[in-house]
Amino acid sequence: MQVKPLVYTVKDKCRVCYSCVRECPAKAIKISNGQAEIITERCIGCGNCVIVCSQGAKIFERHEGEIFSLLNKYPKVIACIAPSFPAEFDEIEDYRYLVGMLKKVGFYKVVEVGFGADIVALQYNKYLNEQNNTTTISSDCPAIVNYIIQYHPNLIKNLAPIQSPMVATKRILTQKYGEDVKLVFIGPCIAKKRESSELENVITFLELREILKWKIKPEDDIILSDFDDPVAGIGAIFPISRGMLQTMEKKEKVGDKDIIAIDGHNHFTEAILELEKGGLKTHYLELLCCEGCIQGPGMSKKGGRFSRRTLVREYVNKKIKTIDQQKWQQNFDEYKNIDLKRTIVAKDRRLKQPSKQQIEEVLKKLGKYSQKDHLNCGACGYSTCVEHAIATINGLAELEMCLPYTIEELHNSVERLNVTNSKLASAKQALKQSEKLASMGQLSAGIAHELNNPLGVITMYSNILKEEFDPQNQNYKDLELIVEQAERCKNIVGGLLNFARKNQVKNQKTNILDFTKHSIETIILPENIKVEIINNATDKYFYFDYEQMMQVFNNLEKNAIEAMPEGGKLTLEIAQTDFYLIVKFKDTGSGISKENIDKIFTPFFTTKPLGKGTGLGLPLIYGIIKMHKGKIEVESNDKIENGEIGTTFTVSIPRK
Ligand code: ADP
Ligand code: MG
Repeated sequence: MQVKPLVYTVKDKCRVCYSCVRECPAKAIKISNGQAEIITERCIGCGNCVIVCSQGAKIFERHEGEIFSLLNKYPKVIACIAPSFPAEFDEIEDYRYLVGMLKKVGFYKVVEVGFGADIVALQYNKYLNEQNNTTTISSDCPAIVNYIIQYHPNLIKNLAPIQSPMVATKRILTQKYGEDVKLVFIGPCIAKKRESSELENVITFLELREILKWKIKPEDDIILSDFDDPVAGIGAIFPISRGMLQTMEKKEKVGDKDIIAIDGHNHFTEAILELEKGGLKTHYLELLCCEGCIQGPGMSKKGGRFSRRTLVREYVNKKIKTIDQQKWQQNFDEYKNIDLKRTIVAKDRRLKQPSKQQIEEVLKKLGKYSQKDHLNCGACGYSTCVEHAIATINGLAELEMCLPYTIEELHNSVERLNVTNSKLASAKQALKQSEKLASMGQLSAGIAHELNNPLGVITMYSNILKEEFDPQNQNYKDLELIVEQAERCKNIVGGLLNFARKNQVKNQKTNILDFTKHSIETIILPENIKVEIINNATDKYFYFDYEQMMQVFNNLEKNAIEAMPEGGKLTLEIAQTDFYLIVKFKDTGSGISKENIDKIFTPFFTTKPLGKGTGLGLPLIYGIIKMHKGKIEVESNDKIENGEIGTTFTVSIPRK
């Protein structure tokens, strides 16, 4: 059967700060897909998560509507007020006004649970006096009882087998007012809602406030009324820390045996662990999950712990002075032997303990390889990295809850993004360059085409005219110069056409090493230049247009040589990938400056003196490689402070 949730998360409000995970002593909060979810089976109902959630994302089950129906249906509905009420209703100066309001709402009787506490304290006293060499744990806090039966079932034998003051009150009132009474407990605690089926209903002070808001109008006459019988004695002090002890000490002494009172979830879990391990030796251990019942989740968020204590104490002091001792004693004698025996059974919900290896695997995923990586920072809500790992294995936690891990992941993402960005930037640059070159190509092709014909005519007529003169004649020499310069123009125009051309590529099977060696032989190599050829290609033969590719190699080699007038080394490195034949031309020359590197493929760009460079070498190479559907890249450094000076051109030609 599915258990009805006592506390649950309002998902829209949860900001996943993990404070509920941190404050949950039962580790009943699961983070899944970045959402905090309460596992009802594991929840002990302490309501710590309700208290610590600053977003109001943790809500508990409420019963205002049920109380209205109950009051309509039954004539004898009794309100039992928890003794912490003075800490909640501090705005009401006279408690009789509160009782009066409850009567007005329709309650048959209004009684204090404090009298039940008086009887329970007596029975604790008797029980403790019979216990030797064993530690008894108080069982009046339902969250503590839940915690022990779920997570430390072997300590059940230590829990006092005595009912709580709430149940005691129910039994006393049934005896006093008849079997047909219906009891509603009103207090600060939400775990009480699941403590016993003997009561008709349990609501918190917050729900009571809501009921009063609905039912009491400002103009209503409220008759001041005292609590109905049986009135509480010192048991009214019960809700503050050591309250039970103080209630007991009023009667018989527990003796001079050791007694420890511990409250708050940070401390009680520690005490239970120590007790289980055998380190804690005490006769009686009074445990409260909250810091006294005056700090319960069912109270308004106002006033501090100490001012609340004072309010309860002041109420009790006044009460003790005015109490009708004789009447109290009479009641006490009548109900002191009421049966409050209780059997507590285990509901084991302990997490399975994973193997050391499993834990280590998760820790490694979190980047924690050795003890020094365990920051135990608590940001995830677990106090140690190992606890977080165990919770992760048990499906309660996620890796992303670890702050150092998430920061590391974020850094990696930023790095990946940076790489992508710079790739994008260089692709954009290349695109811009190729667009520029394409339009340049169109223009050049147009001009070259138009110039070619008149140049042909000039050459032809100059040659015809030349034949009419003697070679010694000045006219002959002038015409020869015209022919020579016209030829030069034709060469330039030819270069332009090469850059823009859409010629066919005639692929030929070529031995790459022989081809490279031959390319060096066809140029004039100065003595101060050393050439090294490194062949890392596993294939011997590749396919490309022999003549065109020879122009590419020759031009790149010439450029490299011209960049090393003082001598140097040219390295030709041949390699292959699945898709490309790759040849690198690496020189130790002058390098290309940053401002020039974007211009070198532009026709007529040259840094060489007039007559030496045309600025058509690289545009030609670019055109040929483009026709081969390959690519050419350049890397260069011209500043010694940035490392080795020189230039590397990388030519990649598709293999298929
Ligand atoms: P040219 O060689 O006629 O100047 P290119 O198109 O072949 O024309 O080269 C253009 C320019 O690129 C050169 O003037 C030179 O500044 C630069 N360049 C090309 N290759 C190199 C290299 N290996 N080292 C240094 N600069 C180079
Ligand atoms: Mg050149």
